Amino acid sequence: MPDSKLINLYQQMSELTEPECAKCTIHSKPFGCCTRIACEITLRHARDVWKVNLRHLFDENNDIPFLTKYNGCRIVPYMRPHCTLFTCFIAKFEHGPNPAWNKKYKELRDQIETIEWEEFDK
Ligand code: SF4
Ligand code: SF4
Repeated sequence: MPDSKLINLYQQMSELTEPECAKCTIHSKPFGCCTRIACEITLRHARDVWKVNLRHLFDENNDIPFLTKYNGCRIVPYMRPHCTLFTCFIAKFEHGPNPAWNKKYKELRDQIETIEWEEFDK
């Protein structure tokens, strides 16, 4: 189980990025860059890192198995770090929708990285 600070940081990061993805203008549909392969990576990450089996939430009949119809991803943010941290604002355009958003994103990412590096260094 990760420390509660890390869980909280991932939650805050999701609250920052998810509203932008929910109104995705790049793909003209919500959460437009979610993919089946990214969901599969989440499934394996949860199993390998957190020893949690998410298979019962993996909807084989859905093209994007962890994506709900109206509420975004059904997996908690810290179990899908590659999704929670990814935002085309940073990856593609190198800046977010406004300076406050940029600042918050960088602060959260730095704090997450610091904790995770400390963990991996043990
Ligand atoms: S990261 Fe960008 S392209 Fe992907 S869903 Fe969010 S807004 Fe859309
Ligand atoms: S955010 Fe959720 S639904 Fe989207 S790719 Fe990641 S695990 Fe799948």
